[in-house]
Amino acid sequence: MMMMMIGIRLRRHTFMVRQYVFQLQSIVNHLFGCSKLVNNIISYHIYLSEIHRLLRSSPDLIGDSCAFKSIKVAIKCRPLTEREQGRDIVRVKHDKEVVVLDPVFSKDYLDRIQNRTKEKNYCFDRAFGPGCTNLDVYTACISSVISGVVQGLNATVFAYGSTGSGKTYTMVGTKSDPGLMVLSLHTIFDLIKKDKNSDEFEVIYDLLEKSSAHLELREDPMHGIVVAGLRCIKVHSADKILELLNLGNSRRKTENTEANGTSSRSHAVLEITVKRRQKTEYCNQVMRGKLSLVDLAGSERASEANSGGQKLRDGANINRSLLALANCINALGKPQKKGLAYVPYRNSKLTRILKDGLSGNSQTVMVATISPVDSQYHHTLNTLKYADRAKKIKTHIQKNI
Ligand code: ADP
Ligand code: MG
Repeated sequence: MMMMMIGIRLRRHTFMVRQYVFQLQSIVNHLFGCSKLVNNIISYHIYLSEIHRLLRSSPDLIGDSCAFKSIKVAIKCRPLTEREQGRDIVRVKHDKEVVVLDPVFSKDYLDRIQNRTKEKNYCFDRAFGPGCTNLDVYTACISSVISGVVQGLNATVFAYGSTGSGKTYTMVGTKSDPGLMVLSLHTIFDLIKKDKNSDEFEVIYDLLEKSSAHLELREDPMHGIVVAGLRCIKVHSADKILELLNLGNSRRKTENTEANGTSSRSHAVLEITVKRRQKTEYCNQVMRGKLSLVDLAGSERASEANSGGQKLRDGANINRSLLALANCINALGKPQKKGLAYVPYRNSKLTRILKDGLSGNSQTVMVATISPVDSQYHHTLNTLKYADRAKKIKTHIQKNI
């Protein structure tokens, strides 16, 4: 198991950011021929002071103390690569619609026109075509969520899609097109810089360490599910974030699959916790919001990823955690009668860790990534169908006090 944790602490407000990179025991067995999980942990703590204006600048996302929110579902279609030129079967229309052409009937323009019935149409909260940047996705779907977290809401942002569809690109991105994880952290740092008291910025903890200890999940009565034993290193600026995310990502176990030479066979979670004390004449309370940004493993079926042996088992395990996630999402989406619905969070480590982000007090954004190329037709349709189901989910959000 590999983990990255980033924490930013303010005099009266604490931002804690953690990136967990999960690897399955079986993958490590395969790599190292031993049953011990390898843990690499990176974390940062930064103590800052005075940030009232930063917090006040957040939009009034909460308004009422509770409300029902649907999962926000966005689709992001990556551009064709050089090798894929001329094999485009996906169209994004009006910022919301995704049209997938059947590759058998989309060889030329005339075929497309004559076989409109073979088109599959889907509509989402937002759809981003190949010309869109990660910043476009961030601005339209994520920035308001981050403001909500500062005000005591939980939130989860998933990148879901098959291998090679652009999940990691969307979450981490590049220097010229930084991803959602980097942009979220940039927002925080930018706001800090604007703060007049930013020279009180004080880094107090610095540690970067590789560890082979096996980290355990613990149920903390105050903080819910936590990962015990995370370590810290210091970070001075947002510029460092991309470098660190890339470092964490380079440590993720990757396996060659037929789909993508550097297919991620693990999930990566960047977790940001914001604690904020609200002191008035009448009350003194701590609000705590948590944002989880998740770069999931490829959603393709294990049997399609590779045949036989360890790789198949890894694929099966990875799909088991994705299945557990889908079951939780489905349970949350069911109309609730009396009391709370049973949500099977305990069925995988992934869902245990995401419990806060998915449960009652939560805003959830799914960014489903798709490839425009004809050879990915079935994966693209599977992703769009999954995303279409996710649209129906409603979560009950409440201020975390
Ligand atoms: P995944 O994480 O879903 O397996 P990646 O994020 O690794 O997929 O993307 C697969 C390939 O597509 C990479 O080479 C990546 O650089 C490229 N790619 C994905 N999205 C974009 C984009 N919006 N613009 C340019 N290249 C992209
Ligand atoms: Mg990836």
